[in-house]
Formats: sequence, C-alpha cells, structure tokens
Amino acid sequence: MTGQKLIVWYEIYKRNLPWRDTEDPYLIWVSEVILQQTRVVQGLDYYRRFIDAYPDIFLLARADMDEVLKIWQGLGYYSRARNMHAAAKHIVDAYDGKFPATYDGLITIKGIGDYTASAIASIAFGQAVPVIDGNVNRVIARLYGIQQPVNKPVGQKEIRAYAEKLLVRNAPGTYNQAIMEFGALQCVPQNPDCNGCILNRVCVAYRCGLTDMLPVKEKTAKIATRYFHYLHIRFGNRTFIRRRADGDIWTGLYEFPMIETGKETELDDLGRTPAWQSYFGAQTPLIETVSGEITHRLTHRILKIRFYEIVVDKPVSGQRLIEIPATDIHRYAVPKVIDNYLKNIR
Ligand code: SF4
Repeated sequence: MTGQKLIVWYEIYKRNLPWRDTEDPYLIWVSEVILQQTRVVQGLDYYRRFIDAYPDIFLLARADMDEVLKIWQGLGYYSRARNMHAAAKHIVDAYDGKFPATYDGLITIKGIGDYTASAIASIAFGQAVPVIDGNVNRVIARLYGIQQPVNKPVGQKEIRAYAEKLLVRNAPGTYNQAIMEFGALQCVPQNPDCNGCILNRVCVAYRCGLTDMLPVKEKTAKIATRYFHYLHIRFGNRTFIRRRADGDIWTGLYEFPMIETGKETELDDLGRTPAWQSYFGAQTPLIETVSGEITHRLTHRILKIRFYEIVVDKPVSGQRLIEIPATDIHRYAVPKVIDNYLKNIR
C-alpha cells in the first residue's frame, strides 16, 4: 500500500530527466553511477556529455582512460569512472556487450556494486530487487522509526527487511525510482514538509516527533588532514606534470609535481626537504608566487593545499614527470582544485 502510494506520488511529482524514459541498461547504468554522491542538477550535465562521447558500451570499452577521466573531471570519486571503464571492457569481452539481466549476474562484474546492480536489474529488466541508497535509507528509517545506525550492518539489516516489504513487485523499477525521488524531493534531510506529506499518517518519525533525529548515523573514523604543495614550474613555455599512481586519491588524474608534508610547512622548510632537492638539484629556482592555503574537503580527509609558481632555467627531474607545453595542460584530466587554480591564473 505504502509502496503504491509512492508510485502515485512519483507519477505526479517526478522530475523529467533523460534517463527516466529508457529501459536501456547502459543508459541506466551511466546515470546511476553518475548520480551516486552527486546532485541531479550537477549530474545532468555530466550525463549528457558522457552519453554524447560514449553513446554505447562498445565505445566506452574502446575509449582512452585519460579521455574518460577528462569528461569526469570535477565530478569527484574518480574510481567510479575507472570502474565503469573496466566494467564496460568486461561486459564487451565476456558478454558480447549485453548486460547480464539479473542482480546475481550483474553483481559479479567488477565495478558494479549492490546499489547499481539493483538499479539496473529492476529498472532495465523488471527484477524485483529493492534499491537502497542514502535517500532510501532516510525515507525508510523515518517511516518505520528505525533507531539503529543506518551506516552499520545492524541498521542496514533492518532497512533491507523493510525495503523488501515496501517493494512493489509488479513494478519494481518504477517503485525504486519513486522512493529515491521521494527522498530527494519530499523526505529531504532538513525540514521536510511533513504536514503536506502523503505518508504522514503512517510515518513513525512524524507521529513521534523524531523526524530531525532520523536516520541515525554513527560517527565514522576521524578525518585526517594532509598537506599538499603543488609546484607549478615554468621552464620557458613548458611545464611539468605527472600522473597520479594507484592506491591513493585521484588515481589516474594528472597533477603538478607535488610535495606532501606531515604538517603545515613554510617555504624555507619546504626548500630543505629531500623531495624539493630531488626536483631542483643544484639549481636555485625563482619562486614567483605562493598561493594562500586552500582547504579542499574529501569524504575521509581534508587537504590543505598551496600552489607555488616557480621559474627554472633548466628542466627539473623526478619520478614519472612529463614535460609538456604549458598551454597543453587543459588537455589533461586534473583534480578540481588544480582546475580551479588554472582558471584563476589564466
Ligand atoms: S511525514 Fe515527513 S518524515 Fe515522514 S515520510 Fe513524510 S516527509 Fe518523511
């Protein structure tokens, strides 16, 4: 009954979005991956550009990873783009470009997790599996008054049990989209309009005055701070970049030579670090500008970043450094903070 009500609400209030009128698993996949951790307004533009560049899975599988990352630039959580690329190759190689039509088949593909497998299986193939994302967690926690933390297994177990109960089995794709949209537009995190809500008669949070307290989330580990010093080195009309290696944030993106320190570090001290010495050797570089400290927040860490504009009269050396014409930097996918820096100095 409640699930059906959500569908009725959805048919009236849903936003008109390009991926809503398709059962093409590829388009649904792209939209769901882009929308994880991203607001619809921001994701829409990326979705259009992505689909323009790679209208089908074969083109994505054949694409150059650097180009995929360039389109993704600014969207964050870059592992999503790398995983999509790897999954596209796998689906083309192992399944002749056809997505497996079940949750169990989809979840075996590296890079497709529970959320995405449920979304594709239900929306593209009509399989009765519930989708659980942040919006669904919030709606269900409030509707049923779940007091367990939704970011812990014990809370997820309860959420999943209710999600299975709510699921409209003869229209799982529509229902899943309905509850996610309901969370995004009606049962919003702050100050939802409960008085005007179609579910307020059955909603435990509303009836018990718990709306502001649900869902419960347990605090995650302390957020670490890292200190990045980016060296924007000019050697005539050339500069230096490197590709970030695996196993850390921003894998596969490009950046200026960088020195990471364990704490705030003044320029004099930076100049005495082994990393600085290895870049510049015996030459004395000219430091033209030092930016103010920029704070860049990621999910599990805070980055404190400074940019140093430096002029040299000999090339610098360092692991994986590439020398490029300075004007070519816009061709490379870079983290948003570097993109912003480049926009400001142009
Ligand atoms: S009554 Fe309020 S808290 Fe309950 S489902 Fe509706 S909007 Fe959410």
